[in-house]
Amino acid sequence: MASNSTTRSVVVIGGGPAGLMAAETVAGAAAPGEVEVVVHDRMPSPARKFLIAGRGGLNLTHSEGLGDDLGAFLSRYDASGASGSIAAAVRAFPPAALVAWAQRLGQDVFTGSSGRIFPKAMKASPLLRAWLRRLDGQGVRLVARHRWLGWTDDGALLFRTDAGDEETVRADATVLALGGASWPRLGSDAAWVAPLAQRGIAIAPLVPSNAGFDVAWSQVMRERFAGQPVKGVALTHGNRRLRGEFMVTQHGVEGGAIYALSAAMREAIATTGKARLYIDLKPDWTERVLVARLAERAMQQRPGESLTNALRKAAGLSPVAIGLMREAAGNVMPATPDGLARLAKGVLIRLVGVRPIDRAISTAGGVKLEEVDDTFMLRRLPGVFVAGEMLDWEAPTGGYLLQASFATGRAAGLGALAWVRRAAA
Ligand SMILES: Cc1cc2nc3c(=O)[nH]c(=O)nc-3n(C[C@H](O)[C@H](O)[C@H](O)COP(=O)(O)OP(=O)(O)OC[C@H]3O[C@@H](n4cnc5c(N)ncnc54)[C@H](O)[C@@H]3O)c2cc1C
Repeated sequence: MASNSTTRSVVVIGGGPAGLMAAETVAGAAAPGEVEVVVHDRMPSPARKFLIAGRGGLNLTHSEGLGDDLGAFLSRYDASGASGSIAAAVRAFPPAALVAWAQRLGQDVFTGSSGRIFPKAMKASPLLRAWLRRLDGQGVRLVARHRWLGWTDDGALLFRTDAGDEETVRADATVLALGGASWPRLGSDAAWVAPLAQRGIAIAPLVPSNAGFDVAWSQVMRERFAGQPVKGVALTHGNRRLRGEFMVTQHGVEGGAIYALSAAMREAIATTGKARLYIDLKPDWTERVLVARLAERAMQQRPGESLTNALRKAAGLSPVAIGLMREAAGNVMPATPDGLARLAKGVLIRLVGVRPIDRAISTAGGVKLEEVDDTFMLRRLPGVFVAGEMLDWEAPTGGYLLQASFATGRAAGLGALAWVRRAAA
């Protein structure tokens, strides 16, 4: 881009979905020659977590937010996300706008049976390639292998290159989009906490979100069932019950339905050291129906037929489901249809820990929302904007994470552009 003495500079730090969207927004809305936009990232290439998210199909957003009423969609965010600035950013760039944006990048989408929206390509790389081409066409410059360290005493941005050299950069506006603390090898390692805390910015502790949980499984459970999905069940923690599926792992449990309950279960573990999760293995049958089926089957049971076989035939329970029943019963299974039905309708899994943050899908905590104004500018650091997962909001999987990352990136980009225009006026 041709720049001149009146060209303003916007520096975006962090080339994930939030940072790239901030850069696109500034470059797309600025007049030619008005603003130079540079994105710095510590990694050799941008958006590595976004690419990994593509391995699961890249759940961009959710169809429950496609209509005019975003109430149900926004209710998926925690209290801080469901109202105030995050909600306003999502309303200004809702799921329909995100879908249209992906389509303009040549990525048609489809809605899965769960209502989740994916690109038809079921991966992130074609979308990212098209996006980077668009950014290049807009004159956005990407600087890789530049780790942001904080600010110098006179307010310049301080970076360290992979070669160990330190460089300073001055910006008329800065957008920080440095991500959370999960999967640090993909780039976001939360080293930004120290420089921001030093400047007096309040930061809620970063904790795993959409993470698996530890269970003290027996050896049999680990050896026979780790890696197996438990499908078509209902999970209850506290007074929240939801339908879905999850996976038994070496360490415990993980998967979509677990993630949806993870915030409350994480809080329970933080306060009491444990959390109780109940699994209804036959959510479509009442306990009475289940008792009747089991009793009927017991009448037909051949001598020597195993209980596992009888349960499988009578109730269609999978081996892993029966394994969970045995585990909960301490390997002493009830002898009556009533007892078996009661157990199958409420298998207790005792969660004893949260899996480490470096394997969590996302992070809760971050820059507290009261630190930013409606344009996502830090109140204590005028001209510095914050976007994406480094802000303190939380949501389950289902496309809500990327939706809010994109939406806050766009809002911070608009804020940064308005800021440099005001300063130039
Ligand atoms: C396995 C997995 C699957 C996922 N699947 C989905 C999904 O299907 N749908 C969904 O909605 N969400 C999904 N997510 C979550 C989603 O990817 C994140 O919420 C989203 O990427 C956050 O975007 P962000 O731009 O805020 O941060 P990030 O994507 O983390 O980007 C931050 C960027 O900042 C850079 N950076 C960090 N520190 C520095 C520094 N000091 N200096 C310079 N650069 C720095 C990093 O290198 C990185 O490029 C998934 C996450 C994982 C781990």
